[in-house]
Amino acid sequence: MVDARRWIGGRIFTGSGYAEALLIEDGHVVVAGTEEEVRRASPTGVETNQLAGRLVIPGLVDSHLHLSELVRQREGVALERARSIAEAGERIADWAVRNPHGPIFGRGWNQDELVDGRWPNRRDLDRSAPDRPIVLYRICGHVAWANSSALALMGIGRETPDPPGGAIGRDSRGEPNGLLYESALSLAEPIVQNALVVDASRLEPTVQSAVQMGLTSVASMRADLPEIEGLRTLARAGRLPLQVRLYVGIRCLDAVERAGAIDVSLSSGPVRVIGVKAFADGSFGGRTALLDSPYLDAPETSGIAVASPAQLAEVVTRARSRGLAPGIHAIGNRAIDRALDALETDRSPPPPARIEHASLTPPTTMDRIDRIRPALIVQPGFLASDYWLEDRLGPERVRWAYAFRTLLEKGHLLAGSSDAPFDSFDPWVGIRCAVRRTDDAGRSANPIRFEGLDPERAVALYTVNGGRALGDESIGSLRAGARADLVVLNGGRLEQILDRSVTPVAETWSGGARVA
Ligand SMILES: [Zn+2]
Repeated sequence: MVDARRWIGGRIFTGSGYAEALLIEDGHVVVAGTEEEVRRASPTGVETNQLAGRLVIPGLVDSHLHLSELVRQREGVALERARSIAEAGERIADWAVRNPHGPIFGRGWNQDELVDGRWPNRRDLDRSAPDRPIVLYRICGHVAWANSSALALMGIGRETPDPPGGAIGRDSRGEPNGLLYESALSLAEPIVQNALVVDASRLEPTVQSAVQMGLTSVASMRADLPEIEGLRTLARAGRLPLQVRLYVGIRCLDAVERAGAIDVSLSSGPVRVIGVKAFADGSFGGRTALLDSPYLDAPETSGIAVASPAQLAEVVTRARSRGLAPGIHAIGNRAIDRALDALETDRSPPPPARIEHASLTPPTTMDRIDRIRPALIVQPGFLASDYWLEDRLGPERVRWAYAFRTLLEKGHLLAGSSDAPFDSFDPWVGIRCAVRRTDDAGRSANPIRFEGLDPERAVALYTVNGGRALGDESIGSLRAGARADLVVLNGGRLEQILDRSVTPVAETWSGGARVA
């Protein structure tokens, strides 16, 4: 007997249009059509779900987040919205009492929000816990703040040179000041990884919160072996309620391959390695995103090239030789140009090559995107969190930041994502920003109204377009043949998702089973 269920009495947004009713069998969509069509196709014993006027949409896809970092955010010191170095110090001290052993790790600080009016340094931390190494990531994840004990463990001293593609912050006397930028973060990585091993039990609360927000597929970036194994353990135990696609960090590609984690026999399961992630530049927040001319508010810099053109080309070759897709992080227009150089001759079948973020796309860069056509993985939520962007770029350049509608109208594949925990994990924050282009206070990185999307197109970024970016068109749509991953909304119209006072998600279903 088939396992069949139908939804009637409401409306279905399939990802590209509307239907009246939906029939699923054995975890897949059989009909999205009129109620009459669904009734005629229904087998005996079909279960019926009455929608009572509510709207069903495809399960949401977050095409770029960081599961291990979300686990570390949940377990480490939370420094989001700390207003002073002293307040950060209190939070660290509280956490250290509750977690008395091992290194102290955390994330979320932002020097622009500190009343101190300066960057924090290692001496600020040496007061709170002199004997334990401390590593704290900035909100963007591109800068770390460490204490003297951590610097000693990393072997960083006065004579240590800056690594290629990164920098070690120094005080006026040339001593390391505790700040590490871009590729220098890899020196701190072992401390943070040893402080907390990401495993199945630690991943489970994070995947549970994902399905509660309506996510049924996520792409986790810079995944490493413990994360992949933790997710597969959950899947084998029947406790992974969503599809996970993984982009392995270029530095752990060999280890992941040696462990057999890219094995094709695993390529039909819910946890699949499909790509390799590499960096071309940093972030606007740290002024490390690579521009073709200097920052307006820091004329001494145009950003940091984290990888050379030869390194980026090698990432593409290494990924494709293993049947994987390259995903290149590029935010500034110069970095996007370099990513396009590396992808220029890439003509492989799906999953498509991707540019992660692709934030600043002036007309010359857009023309090249038109020719090379990578998938662009965008974060509409950055419109709200980068509200200061015009100060960094000036009014002319900022016009081409997050130009989503222009890019869509040129026919590019834009997939929506959160980049959590570097921005809000909640996909509805990004969907609302894609429509409104401002935060609740009306602030925006680029408020140009023309670039706003209608709610259907905004949801499409997080559904159909997400499936295409992951090279799997059975994800993110409710057309016949697709996976029965769906969300029942609390209401009948997509426009109401713009109203923050209504919780959008009533139910989440994955592969035909209710998961939230
Ligand atoms: Zn990211």
